[in-house]
Amino acid sequence: MKTFNNPPKLNTDRRFSDNMTSSHALTLKAKQGEKGNSKGTPYALPAFNITTIQGINAAFDAFEILGASGVLAVSNSALKHFGGGDPITGLEVAADYIASRAKRSTIQVATHLDHGDYTTEAGRKVVQGAVQHLTGVMADNSTDHANKCGRSLEENIGYTREVVNMAHPLGVSVEGELGVLAGEEDEDTKSEISTYTQPDEFEQFITETGVLMIAPTIGTMHGPNKGKPGTKVKLNIELAHELLKIADRVQPETIFVAHGASTLYPQVVEYAVEKLQSLGAGMAEKYGQTWKNYVGTDWEQIQGLIGAGFAKVNTDTENRQTFLSALLGAVNENAAKVDIRWYDKKTTEALTQSYLVKCIMADNYGVWHEPKINVEKFIFDLHVSLADTLKNAQ
Ligand SMILES: [Zn+2]
Repeated sequence: MKTFNNPPKLNTDRRFSDNMTSSHALTLKAKQGEKGNSKGTPYALPAFNITTIQGINAAFDAFEILGASGVLAVSNSALKHFGGGDPITGLEVAADYIASRAKRSTIQVATHLDHGDYTTEAGRKVVQGAVQHLTGVMADNSTDHANKCGRSLEENIGYTREVVNMAHPLGVSVEGELGVLAGEEDEDTKSEISTYTQPDEFEQFITETGVLMIAPTIGTMHGPNKGKPGTKVKLNIELAHELLKIADRVQPETIFVAHGASTLYPQVVEYAVEKLQSLGAGMAEKYGQTWKNYVGTDWEQIQGLIGAGFAKVNTDTENRQTFLSALLGAVNENAAKVDIRWYDKKTTEALTQSYLVKCIMADNYGVWHEPKINVEKFIFDLHVSLADTLKNAQ
């Protein structure tokens, strides 16, 4: 599996459909602090895991309100959900819908396969399909999920290089993973073990694979429980800077990606517990504590990463929680509405608010045009409708 020739460079001449571009192009712009025609301090793109058409709408609405760049990520299980069980159908459905919205949009977006697995036959089919339909793919080959252990560096490089060989000539950027990330995101990414990325392995990995995006493991964790309640997640920012120094020497256009970077919202948890309480019949007792036990990463920690070359920050749990909170609120308000669109609208608007917050936190606004709201005045509160939130932020 050893490769001796140089890996293919990303084909930056590839033109995708209107307002679609590679994940690398958008995140490089962010790492270089480019907004409009000026260059400022680095910002990051929160990558949103999309699982429904409503989720796509919410993301576009948020990006367009802010003039932000967007990364829409789809996991294998999300693709199955989109495709009625078949991930390839799901790829076509999601990619076509996103392209239609992008065509009419004021901003640019990238589409990204989250945790593509090139080590199994079924996974390979999805990665191959993603290279045809999306603008970026992740080749997550660092963990052997079946045997619950890390894969050897050589194997990881070999598989990742095969994805680069296929994707880069088509202008589709590839994100590799090095080190093992603990936690559970969904059925595709469960791991109980965790190892930090080794600097010497890191240099060999980016040189031999040619990836321009990489998820090093520096202490983040997948899922809603990143530690015991009351404890704080501590990221290894020094290691991130050490890796950045190597990247600056070997390939300065390297983008770091933070996985498991969810920063949970206390106000969303409070809102959910309040709605569970008014639903009565033991709901708060049964589920309230689970809500209160969720532990995310502090945003200050994530901000530390943005200064260390991280320009793609994957967030999912807090958006899922916001969606569920809004649904609990809707059921509280009227549990007899038979119009499904009403529930869809409530949850989509809550998601939009969550996406707005994340983009503002990561400084991802005013990239393609001036924001339509005053971001300083934006207050996220599920008791207030999206329309009123936007009006209050004028
Ligand atoms: Zn992840």
